[in-house]
Amino acid sequence: MNPIYEQMQTSVFERMSALAAKHSAVNLGQGFPDFGWPNEILDAAADALKNASNQYPPSRGLPQLREAVAGHYHRHFGQTLRAEDVCVTSGATEALGACILATVSPGDEVIIFTPAYDSYAPMIRRAGGAVREIALRPPEWRIDRDALQAAIGPKTRAILFNNPQNPTGRLYDGTELQMIADAAIQHDLTVISDEVWEHIVLDGQRFTPLATLPGMVDRTLKIGSAGKIFSLTGWKVGWIASAPPLASVAARAHQFLTFSTAPNLQAAVAFGMDDGDSWLEPMRQRFARARDRMVDGLKGAGYATLDAASTYFLCVDLKQSGLDLDDEAFASAAVEQAGVAVVPVSAFAEQDPSRHIVRLCFGKRDETIDAGVAAMRKAK
Ligand code: PMP
Ligand code: GLN
Repeated sequence: MNPIYEQMQTSVFERMSALAAKHSAVNLGQGFPDFGWPNEILDAAADALKNASNQYPPSRGLPQLREAVAGHYHRHFGQTLRAEDVCVTSGATEALGACILATVSPGDEVIIFTPAYDSYAPMIRRAGGAVREIALRPPEWRIDRDALQAAIGPKTRAILFNNPQNPTGRLYDGTELQMIADAAIQHDLTVISDEVWEHIVLDGQRFTPLATLPGMVDRTLKIGSAGKIFSLTGWKVGWIASAPPLASVAARAHQFLTFSTAPNLQAAVAFGMDDGDSWLEPMRQRFARARDRMVDGLKGAGYATLDAASTYFLCVDLKQSGLDLDDEAFASAAVEQAGVAVVPVSAFAEQDPSRHIVRLCFGKRDETIDAGVAAMRKAK
């Protein structure tokens, strides 16, 4: 087989969800909530499906959604984006592909912080780029200024940054954000800032978009996702938001990936972005309660959990839990023998990965969490 085919493996989410289905296991692997989407948005989608156009919408998105995204970011984070600066995509996954294709040329190096979302490295490589991993260390997962500076060389073109970070659940602090900004400005880099978890920040923390740091607006491609904001992961409505000219460069790449995204879902998300602010705080509180329930249950079962205060993911340290097997072996045994699917965190890094951490999704109903915890007890 051609070795370049090896650059794209079956995604860990596909792999674990298939195993969960095969073994009728509780699926705490792939990240999706099993509760809590706003009914009004479903009604808006149904209405748009029946009463509005079902033909190609404009490639960059319905005007009302682009306006709504710009307005939403102004209200929440004080950003001054214009509707023209927003390009609607088929989920953040497509947005990532478009941003990578728009910015990375063969031979360019792109810095990522690992463990990192699984599409980053394969997509950078298929664009002809080289991946420069900076490994973050548990339990803090902090960015180190020296490691960042050491990773930058003459070929570095971009940083692909994810805040809050999947799978670690880390919300970076102001010092770390400033390190990214300093490096980008000093070395003239573009930052693709994957901020899909921007609203899932718990315990009263505040999220800061990278583009709002001085000097960053013109070099940041921000990515967002309605799938996360409204717990509608299957809808695959996302966007790129950026100042010109970056916004239009990415939008041109988007034309050749999907061209456009289902208009009815866009209309419903536009309604939600305008109307849904009252939805955000109850959603965060519900996720925080679910997190506490899972942490209590897992601690009761003898597991050591890491801090989880953003995203809906919780990491469990197997070594600290007294288990002497690596994360892949644990994940296989857990799904096959104990009936719970989790994600091995080493799947999110290639060099120097932590091999003793698994990720669990806590965005679930109480009964799902309880069944998952019971199965984790069996897995120990
Ligand atoms: N980036 C990150 C960091 C994610 O966690 C996810 C989804 N888990 C995505 C991108 C993809 O988002 P979407 O479902 O909108 O394609
Ligand atoms: N974003 C989800 C996660 O991290 C899964 C996305 C996917 O299945 N591609 O679990």
